[in-house]
This record gives sequence, C-alpha cells and structure tokens, in this order.
Amino acid sequence: MIDFRSDTFTKPTPAMLQMMFRADVGDDVFNEDPTVNKLQNMLAEKFGMEAGLFCASGTMTNQVAIKCHTQPGDEVICDQLSHVYIYEGGGIAFNSGCQVKPLQGNLGRITASQVAEAINPKDIHKAPSRLVSLENTSNRGGGSCYEINDIHQIKEVCLENNLKLHLDGARLFNAIVAKDEDPKEYGNIFDSISICLSKGLGAPVGSVLLGKKEFIDKARRIRKVFGGGMRQAGYLAAAGIYALENNIERLALDHRHAQQMVAALKEKDFTGSMFPVETNIIIFEVKGKYSAKSLAEKLKENDILVMAISPTQVRMVLHLDVTEEMVKKTIQIIENL
Ligand SMILES: *Cc1c(COP(=O)(O)O)cnc(C)c1O
Repeated sequence: MIDFRSDTFTKPTPAMLQMMFRADVGDDVFNEDPTVNKLQNMLAEKFGMEAGLFCASGTMTNQVAIKCHTQPGDEVICDQLSHVYIYEGGGIAFNSGCQVKPLQGNLGRITASQVAEAINPKDIHKAPSRLVSLENTSNRGGGSCYEINDIHQIKEVCLENNLKLHLDGARLFNAIVAKDEDPKEYGNIFDSISICLSKGLGAPVGSVLLGKKEFIDKARRIRKVFGGGMRQAGYLAAAGIYALENNIERLALDHRHAQQMVAALKEKDFTGSMFPVETNIIIFEVKGKYSAKSLAEKLKENDILVMAISPTQVRMVLHLDVTEEMVKKTIQIIENL
C-alpha cells in the first residue's frame, strides 16, 4: 500500500527506533527526564524562545496554550478552517470555556485587517477578545503558507489591542522549508508555538509547545491537570530528537513529489479545481466519471490510499514513507485512470 491519506501515517525507521531504545530517561513529571529536557531545549533554541514543553499530541499543545492564554468567557479569533476550531472536539469551549470568532480567510489564512475588525469593543455585552490563533501551514487550506510580513502585521494589531498570538505550527517546518525562512523570526513574533513531531517529521508521537519560561511553567501545570504529565517520556522524546536532526531538510523532497503528482493530476479530466499546492498537501475537486469516493476506491484497488475529505474533494499528502519510486508508480496509475 502507498498511503497518501495523511503524513500522520509515517512509521518510525529502524534508526529512529534505535535512538528510542537507547534513550536516557527519568521521571518527567519531576523534570528529570534528560531526553525530554534535551528535546524541549533543542526546539526552544531553534526558535529563539525561552522554553518548551513536550506533550502527547498537537491537540494537547494547542489546547494547553489556549487555556494558558485565556479566561472563561473570552473570545478566540481564528480562521474558520483552523484545526483548533474544527478538529479538536470543541476543545476551546470544553477546556477553556471560551467562544470562537471564526473568520473567513483565504485558504486558512487571515489578515491583519480582518483581525482588527474582529476585535470586540470594551462593552459588557461582548466577550473580551483575548487571543488570535494562526495555523501555518494550514491543514484544511491545502498546506498553504503565510507570508511572514502578513504575520508581522497581525502581530502589530495584537500588540495594539493587548491580544496574545498563538501559532498552530503542526506543519511549521513545511512552511519554513518551502519559504526558506528562519525559525527565530517565528519565535520573535509569537507568544506560543505548537510544533508536531508526528506529522512529516516522522516521529510516532508527540508535539512541543514553545513560549516564554513563565508561560511554559503555567503550561506544565495545565498539562498535568489535563492528564498529560508523562513519566519516562524520554523514549518518545528521543524519536523527536531524531526527527529534528534528520527529517527537516528532506521535507523539500515531499514538496517536490507533491508538484510531480500535481502535474500528473492536472492532465486528467476527472480533476476539477485544485487548491494551490505550496507544500506537501494536495486537495482537489473530483468531477466527471468519478466521485471523491469512487476515485478513492479505484485507487485502493491499485494499492493506493487517499482520503475523500468531502463528497467532491480528495486529499493526498506526501511524507517520509512515500518514496520516489512510489510517486512514480502512483503517477503511472493516475495516467491510466
Ligand atoms: C495534526 C494537526 C494538529 C494536531 O493533531 P494531533 O492529532 O492532536 O496531533 C494540530 N493542528 C493541525 C493544523 C494539524 O494538522
């Protein structure tokens, strides 16, 4: 099977497993796991931020961050396609007692003027606007990337209005590699950043939340309350360290593979409109002789797995476990459909 459903389907390589086996561990609830501490420090340093916190998932890092930044009754501003809003089980309401003001952005990206307009006036009828949450790359936006200058402008609006700024950077390294950016620029702008190790970076588990030391101290307490205090988590953190050391630059290969697939798909008359492909995610309309479901079934007969994300849309995601040969084979099969 060639699995294009998601970059979460990657499995640890033998070399990554070796590193996990050999990890030096301790009780992380007591801050005594050297491998967890190393992972947190490595990422914090990469982004020029003060501290990091290893969590079980990207949902947890996002939800812990939102809880830290807000009080019940506050309002969180984000794009309507944001993972924090549509894919985290209503967690913003459930965990933080906040409401969301979802904005209609461009492929998951919002602008500074949209944020400025969305901020509630000081008025007892209104929920206090407290936090802006951005997503880069945008999952539901087809892996779209922000222009860093647009983020700087949003930060200006946040500073003027005393709002915190969070980044759901589940696939931030895809954006950084695609746009040849400096991670420290992100560290400079955001109050908190969540990074997934379990997507394109290829680790089996884990995300890291980054922020100022005081913020991370608070996040550590919230993580414990959420049941996320892990003990000898160094075995998992070791996979993250391996991923950071070996799997960042190679994301460019996934992006090249995505472009090769796009070229093949665009030749087919069942391919309708396609989101612009900037990184490793391809989302396109299916028309004519196939529906999204029947195209997915047809591909499955050829040992290729894709995801029908709506009755008319298919998603394909490139990642570590899709080799050049697999891309070639898939293109051949697409050509014959
Ligand atoms: C995958 C993902 C997350 C985190 O998901 P988990 O399954 O909880 O790790 C967060 N945000 C975005 C944009 C994602 O794609």
